[in-house]
Amino acid sequence: MENPANAPASPHKAGFVNIIGKPNVGKSTLMNRIMGEKFSIITPKAQTTRHRIMGIINGEDYQIVYSDTPGIITPQYELHKSMMRWVSNSLEDADIVLWVSEIGEKHVDEELRERLRNLEVPIFLLLNKIDQANEDRLRDKKAMWLEHFSDEQIFPISALEGTHTDTVLEAIREHLPEHPPYFPKDEWTDKPARFFASEIVREKIFTNYKQEIPYSSEVVISEFKEKEEIIVIRAEIMVERKSQKGILIGKGGEALKKVGVEARKDLEAFFGQKVFLETHVKVEPDWRQQERKLRRFGYMQ
Ligand code: GDP
Ligand code: MG
Repeated sequence: MENPANAPASPHKAGFVNIIGKPNVGKSTLMNRIMGEKFSIITPKAQTTRHRIMGIINGEDYQIVYSDTPGIITPQYELHKSMMRWVSNSLEDADIVLWVSEIGEKHVDEELRERLRNLEVPIFLLLNKIDQANEDRLRDKKAMWLEHFSDEQIFPISALEGTHTDTVLEAIREHLPEHPPYFPKDEWTDKPARFFASEIVREKIFTNYKQEIPYSSEVVISEFKEKEEIIVIRAEIMVERKSQKGILIGKGGEALKKVGVEARKDLEAFFGQKVFLETHVKVEPDWRQQERKLRRFGYMQ
């Protein structure tokens, strides 16, 4: 310290807080609750979160870097394997782990428990969706987790309604290590605007089509131009087969048009600006299996 007179009263704290857990337990909802933005896309279908997404909360003397991760699943496709690498990485660089479970989960994931056993950082078990349980049920679930965690480590919450999420934040700030900020203090995410644009379009594909289409498609933003009055966005939707292209576009282009209209609305709300959105559907056979293509879509590290 060269000038102790100007040194802050308390040392700066900073760290990576990584959110892990099974698909659909509410990780992205929690992240949105924390970040106060429609941050990572949420739908009732599992596996909507394909990337690790960081959100940064800055205070005068602290910086929390949250990561939302894809849910933990057994790899089936190449895509899943690369999703799981993200999960492993996020265990390695965590300063605090938030393990999200939900009230309906019947068993403790022993494999994950084992993987976490050697971590030396604090682990908080968030028991989510308590809005769906009465007191008896909550007590039973807590008893199950008490076999693995201490009472102070278990946080019953409702990410959806925001119940007790403040308590979690307090605990995080308390346990954050002393460290200078990792990112400039005016940044709130590590992801570029294009990323959020593609996520918003992808969300509309998830909500507008059944099972096969969402999992077989990927969105690439091939153009993102910020003009004075408007943002011009061109989104390429990749599907695996010609038949899927037909379904995506729909009769007379109606289905794709609906996706476009809904996405544009959300894009305008997200960026706070008028948006011109153009969508194209392309057939890209077996993109999920091919590493080269995955790399191009940004799934490989
Ligand atoms: P993720 O796969 O772990 O990221 O889970 P999501 O955040 O995408 O949430 C999956 C589903 O659970 C969505 O339909 C959410 O609205 C719902 N959900 C998340 N948190 C809660 C909660 O606290 N209570 C209730 N009732 N539903 C929730
Ligand atoms: Mg998610």
